[in-house]
Amino acid sequence: MHSLVAELYPICRSITGDGVRRTLEIVGQHIPVATTEVPSGTPAFDWTVPREWNIRDAYVMNARGERVIDFQRSNLHVLNYSTPIHRKVPLAELRQHLFHDPAHPDCIPYRTSYYAENWGFCVTRQQLESLTEPEYEVRIDSSLTDGSLTYGECVLPGAVDDEVLISCHVCHPSLANDNLSGIAVAVHLARWLQAQPRRLSYRLLFAPGTIGAITWLSRNHERTSRVRHGLVLTCVGDPGSFHYKKSRRGDAEIDRAVAHVLSARGVAHEIRPFHPYGYDERQYCSPGFNLAVGCLMRSAWGEFPEYHTSADNVDFVTPSALADTLDLCKGVVDVLERNVVYRSTNPFCEPALGRRGLYRSTGGSGIGDENLARLWILNLADGDHSLLDTAERSGLSFALLADCAEELARHGLLVPVSSGASGE
Ligand code: ZN
Repeated sequence: MHSLVAELYPICRSITGDGVRRTLEIVGQHIPVATTEVPSGTPAFDWTVPREWNIRDAYVMNARGERVIDFQRSNLHVLNYSTPIHRKVPLAELRQHLFHDPAHPDCIPYRTSYYAENWGFCVTRQQLESLTEPEYEVRIDSSLTDGSLTYGECVLPGAVDDEVLISCHVCHPSLANDNLSGIAVAVHLARWLQAQPRRLSYRLLFAPGTIGAITWLSRNHERTSRVRHGLVLTCVGDPGSFHYKKSRRGDAEIDRAVAHVLSARGVAHEIRPFHPYGYDERQYCSPGFNLAVGCLMRSAWGEFPEYHTSADNVDFVTPSALADTLDLCKGVVDVLERNVVYRSTNPFCEPALGRRGLYRSTGGSGIGDENLARLWILNLADGDHSLLDTAERSGLSFALLADCAEELARHGLLVPVSSGASGE
């Protein structure tokens, strides 16, 4: 995953253009990806697909012919979606088009101007202060033309049509945690899912932020009724502890599944309520859709100093944090896949587990987690409680309960009533 982040890092992406296409091409070397091109001007609910932006080069050059600000050194130097320009610019005018971040003076900030035409450069304070000549040659060799918006999908069918939507944005240029980390985890989650037996179907969506998700939703309005669970993956590669933002519903199965897997790991994490700002969960959770989609992060966006600056680089994300996130996602998938509601075939008193070899001596004084898991499952197997309900109520891990329940079912002590959380 970390080498995929490193491979994608140099590409200058935006909400449209060749950077997204190249990114999806590389993703497509790992998993099957179908790309869709939606022409500029296409309406998408209250929005319109914008003109396509591409950039080849950009610089601010001093009188000695030196590039004092150079896109080739960092693509963050250019205000993303800058209109083309090539002329001498007086310093006073140039300053109006320079962006720096006083809170992080040594970093290049990431700034965009998608929907208001402008040109600009993003600089460190040192670069800003070094500009003392009366005028500079400014060149932004970009184009803003009728083209298309590009998104990619990897669909992995399961036994049922019910879908899990895994969504990540692909519009940021050289920024690693936000959100090459999300792309890398999604790719490797898909590779793992490909090798698993699947009850549910999975759709991994790689789309530009906001307009990409809105465009996808507008073209898949009816399909969204199949989306039972979803996760936006973002900022999942830094060493910080997990933050999970719940879906707008707040008590959806995905919300409970993530909370359970996080708490079962016994490490610090934070669960936050839904909020109508953030990433594309805003679109999936808009009232017309109200999909059960939450947002999984490690450090929360906007709350780590490297956020939207050149310090969010390949070194800021670590192989172990990426692997840890992937492992968490697999745990969540396991809950969604195996969250069955059972009914006991022996509801009158406990069935005799010992003679079936299902009550095993622990050799100590306690009952042991496996034996306790069987008792909890059998007690709550009333046709109303799911295994996730049982996990929450017992404090035992879902994986243990699911393994024990499958064993009890093989012994004829349980029959499945339905899949999925109760009360939905
Ligand atoms: Zn961002």
